[in-house]
Amino acid sequence: MNIPLIDLKAQYNSIAEDLDRVTKEVLSSANYIMGKNVTEFEKEFAEYVGVKHAISVGNGTDALVIALKSLGIGKGDEVITTTFTFFATAESISAVGAKPVFVDVEKDTFNIDPSQIESKITKNTKAIMPVHIFGQSAKMDEINEIAKKHNLKVIEDACQAIGGKYKGKSIGTLSDVACFSFFPTKNLGCAGDGGIIVTDNDEVATIARALRTHGSGENGQKAYNLLNNITEEVEKASSDANDTVYNPLKYYNYLIGFNTRLDAIQAAILRVKLKHIDKWNEKRREIAGIYNESLKDTELVTPTVLGDCSPVYHMYILQSEDRESLLNKLKEKGVATGVYYPVPLHLQKVYKDLGYKEGDMPVAEYLSHRTFAIPVYPELTEEQVEHIIKSIKE
Ligand SMILES: *Cc1c(COP(=O)(O)O)cnc(C)c1O
Repeated sequence: MNIPLIDLKAQYNSIAEDLDRVTKEVLSSANYIMGKNVTEFEKEFAEYVGVKHAISVGNGTDALVIALKSLGIGKGDEVITTTFTFFATAESISAVGAKPVFVDVEKDTFNIDPSQIESKITKNTKAIMPVHIFGQSAKMDEINEIAKKHNLKVIEDACQAIGGKYKGKSIGTLSDVACFSFFPTKNLGCAGDGGIIVTDNDEVATIARALRTHGSGENGQKAYNLLNNITEEVEKASSDANDTVYNPLKYYNYLIGFNTRLDAIQAAILRVKLKHIDKWNEKRREIAGIYNESLKDTELVTPTVLGDCSPVYHMYILQSEDRESLLNKLKEKGVATGVYYPVPLHLQKVYKDLGYKEGDMPVAEYLSHRTFAIPVYPELTEEQVEHIIKSIKE
């Protein structure tokens, strides 16, 4: 039996009819950029998360970059984040010209350790960017309290945590701005790249909307006025401000922005998949529960779930003293695994100029030698789950 770490074909097959239909609809409509599917998806996504604004973009990394820029973060600023995450978290901070300042994680949750944040705050610190790693919320109350005390912004990197909850509240509603990714292997993935920014803040939303399309048009002018404290009325576009094809105002530019939009075809696909996400996340939790129960008497460390969190198991992470030989044996039995993350960000070559050295973040370094993921995707059959457990136990 061969079991991949994630099976996107199985996901496609489970909803193929709907996906084929909406894809064809977009193709034949010849409306490929922005338009109804994008606007409707943004509405549906905002409603799902429980926020006022959702601004879709080309990928999760761009979502983080635009979120930072919309909050006015740039050159000379520092942003505190976790060292145990996917590179894009810190890369987005560097991309706006700011400096990522890394903090070690908690051994049981893999999330940023709030007790180590305050000592990293300097006069240049502008924001904290927690990551809800592997789908479980960071300790947002503690983080928000520190942010409030020091007048810092908070940006959730929620790329792995769509549908997750913290103290009964949705992930994505726990900070000033949150970002999600629709990379195909995420819990809610499209058929290519995609991402989205969510916020309750009107001003941030307006700037983010302007930045995703060259800082132009009605959104660009509104953002320009906000940034320059101008209160005059903005010229109303004759068509929808988000219409990027037949919009005469698009040749008037107000900010240096980006070209990063969610394709109409991706939006149509995501509208189909959004209806399934709660069921899919529930299935992941169910499989995780079976693993927890079946593996508790082994030498492996199973994931810790905090009482006030409802995680979505983007990854099911185990820890082993002897990871390499275990993963090799699982491979022989047809069970795919993945190592998340082999090198914490403070030790990445690209960040050597930041001056970190081995030993600076002992918990993340310890975890980086022990953690690995086993398949937890919702389409796994009972037989496959059994095979995975049996193989690990052997
Ligand atoms: C996937 C991911 C991103 C980036 O998303 P892309 O859509 O691939 O750009 C950022 N942060 C985290 C934690 C992620 O897992």
